[in-house]
Amino acid sequence: MIVDRQGRRFRNLRISLTSACNYACTYCVPNGKRLVAAQDELSAEAMARGVAYLIEAAGIDRLRITGGEPLVSPKLEAFMGAVGQMGLHDISLTTNGQLLARKLPLLLDAGIRRINVSLDTLDADAFRSIARGGDLASVLAGMDQAHAAGIKIKVNMVPLRGQNLDQVMPLLDYCLERGYELRFIELMRMGHLAKDSNAFLQQFVSLQQLLGLIGEHHEYLQADAPVDATAVRYEVPGKGFFGVIANESVPFCRTCSRLRLSSTGWLHGCLSSSNRHYIGDLLDKPRHQALPALQGLLMKALGDKQEVAFSGGATIMKIIGG
Ligand code: SAM
Repeated sequence: MIVDRQGRRFRNLRISLTSACNYACTYCVPNGKRLVAAQDELSAEAMARGVAYLIEAAGIDRLRITGGEPLVSPKLEAFMGAVGQMGLHDISLTTNGQLLARKLPLLLDAGIRRINVSLDTLDADAFRSIARGGDLASVLAGMDQAHAAGIKIKVNMVPLRGQNLDQVMPLLDYCLERGYELRFIELMRMGHLAKDSNAFLQQFVSLQQLLGLIGEHHEYLQADAPVDATAVRYEVPGKGFFGVIANESVPFCRTCSRLRLSSTGWLHGCLSSSNRHYIGDLLDKPRHQALPALQGLLMKALGDKQEVAFSGGATIMKIIGG
């Protein structure tokens, strides 16, 4: 097992199945262009072999499938079929929910029981202007159907000053009523926002501001969360839970256990670091040749982690696997 001076090790792997996405969210991509999949993306088989090697080389026991938008990828079925056999403790998925209803049978067959759906507003016009695409009603219907089929739903919302702050309470109440756990994600200095401090600061909403807003409507108490959790969790007594992933306000780098694999075969040990390590060529090699080389790269990737706090990263989230 590879462990650093702070006692951190990789445990959670996030795979960006494809960098393609059917949205182009304003805070994720700068120019509104929906990104198509890169020509040199790994096959489903190579990505699944990557997961198998990383389970062995790094001690990964949790996998999150993300992107880009994982549900647009033709690799989804073959990839999930393969990783479902690997004895992982947990496999989950992050999606924008647009295709959730359509892909639900496939997800259920593959044993997915936890899904995070990104949803920034319940207002159809604001939805189209933030996501630059998509259809709100399809997302809500997909969540209803997944929930009815027994899938645990978390909703990810990025609060943005001037765009969706009026949606904090409607979205929280919507989630509490249905038993979904809402996660507010503080805006991160990623991609174009890492270069444009003004744009970042104009939109950024902090944990304290959110709690101030929520406190006007609900009582809440801080709730327990696992040691390597990224979210600060709160309970609204008798109603449910919500969380805040407070990258800026309550940094969690000291306990970060995340490793990311891009769809083109690059390992990223830290969102804040521009270092990345290519493993695509190792995935054609047999285990006894691949694992020693992989371990060397994992040590470098672990060394890329920030000591204390997230400081921003030039890569856009849909490439690195948000
Ligand atoms: N397409 C999927 C989805 O929409 O959930 C998965 C990929 S998306 C990049 C994953 C998450 O990253 C989404 O919840 C999105 O809101 C978040 N995200 C992207 N850019 C961000 C930023 N600059 N700050 C905070 N969250 C961001």
